[in-house]
Amino acid sequence: PARKLKYETIMLKVSGEALQGSLGFGVDAVVMRAVAEEVKDLVMAGVRVAIVVGGGNYFRGANAWQGLDRATADYVGMLATVMNALQLQGALEGLGVDARVQTAIEMREVAEPYIRRRAVAHLRAGHVVIFGAGTGNPFFTTDTAAALRAAEVNAEVFIKATKVDGIYDSDPAKNPLAKKYERLSYRQCTNDNLQVMDETAITLCKENNIPVLVLNMLEKGSIMRAVLGEPVGTVVCE
Ligand code: UDP
Repeated sequence: PARKLKYETIMLKVSGEALQGSLGFGVDAVVMRAVAEEVKDLVMAGVRVAIVVGGGNYFRGANAWQGLDRATADYVGMLATVMNALQLQGALEGLGVDARVQTAIEMREVAEPYIRRRAVAHLRAGHVVIFGAGTGNPFFTTDTAAALRAAEVNAEVFIKATKVDGIYDSDPAKNPLAKKYERLSYRQCTNDNLQVMDETAITLCKENNIPVLVLNMLEKGSIMRAVLGEPVGTVVCE
């Protein structure tokens, strides 16, 4: 082992929107491969990697067509996350990385059902575990699913891999004077309307003392630097 890891077990949240790259829908093969390569580097360094994928590149419950009830729309959204989970599994396997998808909604022909102790065993064996179908419940988000699974598998950090390199006081894409935070408290991140993630997810992280790290997943090596304890992105903690 080359360098000491600050975090040995991590929860990586990859949003569907990030996976679509500049395509506007579905999965951009180049982005998917880049994510898989980052994860491979982490695994090679001895990090236990749990991943929750979003589904916004295919479907979002809140944005469904008018007339579809919200619970049904959310189930469609959860199925969308499974499409991403399977593709990420395939991308990882293509690089020789062992990966297992576990879904919160049973679909045994497609993936393992979520079984916590089994997920932990996979992680201990050095396999990447990808959690699909969110929490399995409508009215929740994949950020909340990631916070929940992070607590369940004892992840030491929740890494939110986005297209921005941290949390800003305003949208850096629109405001050139936007200021990046190095560190925020859980409270600040819910109060200031920064739209980091929903309150349920933040509350779960807070109650379980899991720091949230927001970083740019397209910046090569940034997740690895974070895992080694280097200052990357914005950290949300007590
Ligand atoms: N979803 C849900 N319950 C969950 C997780 C997700 O109902 O526990 C649904 C919800 O409709 C959501 C969609 O799945 O809009 C896709 O997830 P999300 O929007 O969190 O994906 P992301 O924004 O990360 O791509």
